[in-house]
Amino acid sequence: MRIENLRLENFRNMEDLCLFPYETVNIIYGDNAQGKTNLLEALWLLSGAKSFRGARDGELIRFGQGQAVIEADFFGEDRVQTAKIQFGGKKSVWLNEIRQDSVTSLAGRFTAVVFSPAHLGLVKDGPAGRRRFLDTSICQITPRYIGMLGQYQRILLQRNTLLKDISYAPSLLDTLNIWDEKLAVLGGAILRLRMEYTRRLGAEAANIYSGISMDREELSLFYRPFGLELRPEQTKEEIASLLLERTVKNRSEDLRFGTTSAGPHRDDLEILINGRSVRAFGSQGQQRSAVLALKLAESRCIGEILGERPIILLDDVMSELDQSRREYLLNHLTGSQIFITCCDKGYFSQLQEGRTFYMEKGRLAQE
Ligand code: ATP
Ligand code: MG
Repeated sequence: MRIENLRLENFRNMEDLCLFPYETVNIIYGDNAQGKTNLLEALWLLSGAKSFRGARDGELIRFGQGQAVIEADFFGEDRVQTAKIQFGGKKSVWLNEIRQDSVTSLAGRFTAVVFSPAHLGLVKDGPAGRRRFLDTSICQITPRYIGMLGQYQRILLQRNTLLKDISYAPSLLDTLNIWDEKLAVLGGAILRLRMEYTRRLGAEAANIYSGISMDREELSLFYRPFGLELRPEQTKEEIASLLLERTVKNRSEDLRFGTTSAGPHRDDLEILINGRSVRAFGSQGQQRSAVLALKLAESRCIGEILGERPIILLDDVMSELDQSRREYLLNHLTGSQIFITCCDKGYFSQLQEGRTFYMEKGRLAQE
């Protein structure tokens, strides 16, 4: 996928902006607080997702104005298409001039992956963010996964409520088996998909990371099911029966704490560099490179399934990376359209092919 042009009207600090990007690398540079991240945010919103800054719609409209518009012509699914979102009053969305019910209609039509410093939590924080990262990607590739996850969450909640109820109504204990089985079947299917996706993602991420680090370091990913030893080739039915076994074993503990101790809601994605946890031992540059490799790998995995690669939005990625890592990002991510923001002109002196834009007070000048 690639953007042919972007138009913004009263979006954040940009009154009226037009961008004609290059088909490969685009650099947007400028001082702090000029609107670089705002521009990436606008592009990201066209993918139908929520703002990666957690912004509410009203915050996106330029101060003192009533509405904001993001509109882009993009090449996707072998043709030029148009996406438009209007904020202010009721949010309105159009795809190819046809009014849509909601922004989620743009998901899968306009595809993007984004890296911003906030995403460093992916390696630094707890496992919930990593599970969400896997789940979000799998949802894009396997739409039925959205329903599976929702159902799992509902059953988990019901089982947890039942565990608590049993303490004052012991006769309910017999009904626990039904929930255990339901949870194990769904859990097995979720685990199977997550393990399969981790394998794909891991292969792409390892490849990208070795490029970023000039073959000096090795990145590996492992899906870690909580309290279970699984082999990569196991079927969802085999996993479900192991999960059930584990749930039955944990029953007295679960009853004591009123919560379900094993299952995909407890699992983790382990990220290692040269065999060691990047969370515990990685330097800042390594952690940043690892998250980048995961995001870029995600774009390749989605691209492989959907037939075209999402655009890549890299916000403030250059700082903390050494010269050879920056050079890799600028010149070796072929096959995708990329937008990179940075403050310092020196960061992209090695750019071989691409377009650079200077952002000042919400206005963009092509260099
Ligand atoms: P940095 O290099 O520090 O990351 P940046 O160029 O990425 O800077 P942005 O975050 O894109 O900066 O823009 C921030 C500016 O946008 C702030 O000065 C802020 O006041 C302004 N801004 C944010 N929302 C609005 C809005 N709704 N209306 C007008 N201006 C806004
Ligand atoms: Mg910024």
